[in-house]
Amino acid sequence: MKRMKFMFVLRFRRKRMLLTMGSLVAGCAFTALGIFLVQHAARRAATGPVAGPDPVILLDAGHGGEDGGAVGLGGVVEKELNLAITLKVEIYLRAMGYQTILTRSTDTDLHDAAASTVRDRKTTDIHNRFAMMEALRDKDLFVSIHMNKFPGGGAHGTQVFYSKNTPQSAVLAESIQSNVIRLLQPENTRKIKPSGDSIYLLYYAKKTAVLVECGFISNAGDVEKLQDDGYQNRLAFAIACGILDFRQ
Ligand SMILES: [Zn+2]
Repeated sequence: MKRMKFMFVLRFRRKRMLLTMGSLVAGCAFTALGIFLVQHAARRAATGPVAGPDPVILLDAGHGGEDGGAVGLGGVVEKELNLAITLKVEIYLRAMGYQTILTRSTDTDLHDAAASTVRDRKTTDIHNRFAMMEALRDKDLFVSIHMNKFPGGGAHGTQVFYSKNTPQSAVLAESIQSNVIRLLQPENTRKIKPSGDSIYLLYYAKKTAVLVECGFISNAGDVEKLQDDGYQNRLAFAIACGILDFRQ
């Protein structure tokens, strides 16, 4: 036990992550999450830190502003859940020592000021998000957060989509998918999926890029959970653990 503790301190001293982890756990309203985080950090310490500086994570809360995205049961608007979960993912990633960038941190979109039609605003919004991804270094990661919707109401559970253009994208997607299943949705049998051209940002991505469909707002169980602050925290934590587990 003592030896493990010593190794833990030694491994993390240089990165000064122990203080961050300690304060997160001390201040964490979710004790179980705090314990999970320490266990996760210990596992990481046991396997050694990633070589080189950690990647910067570009977090993209889907939609925003006049683009609400999908509308779910009870009139739930996708853009609001996307932002709430994205902001929570950012908190966990920063506690884990990552640098993060957000495409948006408020209820706005990224359209050009000169775009006068809805179509132009939608097009320039996507292009501006894409430009932020392109500005990343090759080792950085792009993670987009969305909600799914499907007729009938039966479909449920998180599913991660990835860009086919880089092999690491599938690795990152699998890491997030498996962490969400392990920590939060043991009944979820969904598999990661390559993105078609309906997901522009992934289809044309040249960087490691994934899109997390957090759940189905057309499903009564999912939509209730996705609006719950505690569930949002657990999901955000599982997504962050998926990023932490990812190896380039
Ligand atoms: Zn969406």
